[in-house]
Amino acid sequence: NETALLGAAEIRDLADRAGIRPTKTLGQNFVIDPNTIRRIIATAEIGPGETVLEVGPGLGSLTLGILDVAERVVAVEIDPPLAAQLPDTVARYRPESANRLDVVLADALKVRELPVAPDAVVANLPYNVAVPVLLNLLDRFPSIRHGLVMVQDEVADRLAAQPGSKIYGVPSVKAAWYADVRKAGIIGTNVFWPAPKIRSGLVSFARRAEPLADVDRTTLFAAIDAAFAQRRKTLRAALAGWAGSSERSGKILEAAGIDPGLRGEKLGIEEFIRIAQAADIHPD
Ligand code: SAM
Repeated sequence: NETALLGAAEIRDLADRAGIRPTKTLGQNFVIDPNTIRRIIATAEIGPGETVLEVGPGLGSLTLGILDVAERVVAVEIDPPLAAQLPDTVARYRPESANRLDVVLADALKVRELPVAPDAVVANLPYNVAVPVLLNLLDRFPSIRHGLVMVQDEVADRLAAQPGSKIYGVPSVKAAWYADVRKAGIIGTNVFWPAPKIRSGLVSFARRAEPLADVDRTTLFAAIDAAFAQRRKTLRAALAGWAGSSERSGKILEAAGIDPGLRGEKLGIEEFIRIAQAADIHPD
């Protein structure tokens, strides 16, 4: 039902009714352009039986679009007035879909339980916490098999970056642990109210069918953090704190078959996995 996607007038009206003024601290930039919603929905490739997790439904413009293609939507919103108005908004614009929506008032950085297991994520993420929210969801909810998120364009590039590129870093490697990640488009600033200063990017991901390796995730992520905390240092030096000494980091790298003189930005997720596995069999 295309007529019921929300435009600028409807979004402002909904905000007025709920007494909401968008706040920067919560990354509240609402999509006011139905074509952008259509594009997000088309790119997300949601199957008819799927339950979709939406983080930050805001005033509901994307929520209505997801309800049109999904079986069920679980919307996690941190801001109480926004969470409170969402069922009313859906009842008004999609009365037949109201019983297919669950609203959860929670912080997506911390949420541990959902009323139903989601198959996918579709979200216009709050930009200041986009990466940790995405990683938390992938970690916390193994039922999530794929997704499409909108983030700052630069963050989209980072998430999809490959080893050796300038912007390759912690988000790129950690996201690659969970999923195949690719950039799926660019969105201008004028489709939002209020308009952000920088453009946005779409990122799509597909979770790996099997984990890449049997490795302790905490050890793995600590090694990744250490390698990039001191980007300019060699791996042997950068991993010394993590390993306990530069002697041990040297040994671990040798056992992993990785040149200790390289920098972390050259390593893919597979190499970091070898490092974490070598650390396991080299206790001090
Ligand atoms: N989906 C809406 C849209 O596209 O118009 C709003 C997107 S807006 C960029 C981000 C939304 O995330 C806001 O509704 C904001 O209140 C919410 N939010 C911010 N931080 C959050 C958090 N930690 N957990 C859950 N929701 C959050």
